[in-house]
Amino acid sequence: MIGVLGAGQLGRMLALAGIPMGESFTFLHPQESACVRGLGEVIVAPYDDRARLEELARRAEVVTYEFESVPVDPVRWLASRVPVYPPPRALEVGQDRFAEKTFFEELGIPTARFAKVDDQRSLEDAVHRLGFPAFLKTRRGGYDGKGQARFANAADVAGAFAKLGGVPAILESHVTFERELSILAVRAKDGEVRTYPLVENHHRAGILRVSHAPAPDITAALEQKARTYAERVTAKLDYVGVLAIELFQAGDELLANEMAPRVHNSGHYSIEGAHTSQFENHLRAIRGLPLGDTRSVGPSAMVNILGGIPKSSEILGVPGAHLHLYGKDPKPGRKVGHVTLRATTPSELAERLALLERIVSHV
Ligand code: AMP
Repeated sequence: MIGVLGAGQLGRMLALAGIPMGESFTFLHPQESACVRGLGEVIVAPYDDRARLEELARRAEVVTYEFESVPVDPVRWLASRVPVYPPPRALEVGQDRFAEKTFFEELGIPTARFAKVDDQRSLEDAVHRLGFPAFLKTRRGGYDGKGQARFANAADVAGAFAKLGGVPAILESHVTFERELSILAVRAKDGEVRTYPLVENHHRAGILRVSHAPAPDITAALEQKARTYAERVTAKLDYVGVLAIELFQAGDELLANEMAPRVHNSGHYSIEGAHTSQFENHLRAIRGLPLGDTRSVGPSAMVNILGGIPKSSEILGVPGAHLHLYGKDPKPGRKVGHVTLRATTPSELAERLALLERIVSHV
């Protein structure tokens, strides 16, 4: 049995990939979750409930997590009792933007210039060094563009530390980039690394809307650069499982923005768009099974469904569309599902995407 900390849509898709392989799942999650209903047992408990973690450790052969904000201490405790993949260190680095950027820097992976901010004074020093425009981001807990402020000039800086909650933060210089990309890598227990082709991501209001996979117009050199970065990160962490790195492309440069030690929204296309999905490959890796082929099967795109759920009949009326709903109640801005779109040529994909976006943006 595979234990999973978290029970959201990523847990759902892991289970949907694992069940055909004969796997069974137990999720530990602080609340009941509709996403995993019918897909395994659920232990409803806080992540630091030692008695329930002990129960999970006793029953599971291996434990993974699908939520990168799980507190690290209970995960370390769990790792002393049962194999936990990816390693808790990956979680720790990924939860703290300063630790994460420092980690990239130590591995020779370029990032935006950054500085640690602990109070208004260090913020002002950092602004003095990095200049404008700049982003102030909380070190912890920010996701989908939350916990951030953008500074265009000195007026924006006054009182900004307190406004962001008075919590440890980093300042980052603004990167002028052409597009946002991500690389997904899977590393096996024996150290073998396979990467998926670079994906191009489009966000609105800080939330991923559309991914194109493979990203168009990627040179072999750029692909190789991303692969090298993913290899360095996963080797350093002695990683097992799927990891995503979000990147900014500026010409021939790739700057790492952040990493996620788990399956990632920009890899959802892989369920139908790759020979082996990120979910299946994550399970293969943590189970010590041979990794699957990460190549794409053709041009594809992933469109997130946010807020409300359109009619399935309309979505599936678009040729090449595959619908994934997560069982969640619709709420403004909430990711309730996604659509993978496949085509045989890039122009066919563009036509299909235009049709689909008309349906999804109506919600
Ligand atoms: P993050 O929460 O760090 O993923 O940031 C959310 C979004 O803000 C990113 O997807 C980028 O579009 C933008 N962004 C974040 N950091 C920077 C930066 N240093 N320079 C330019 N844009 C950024």
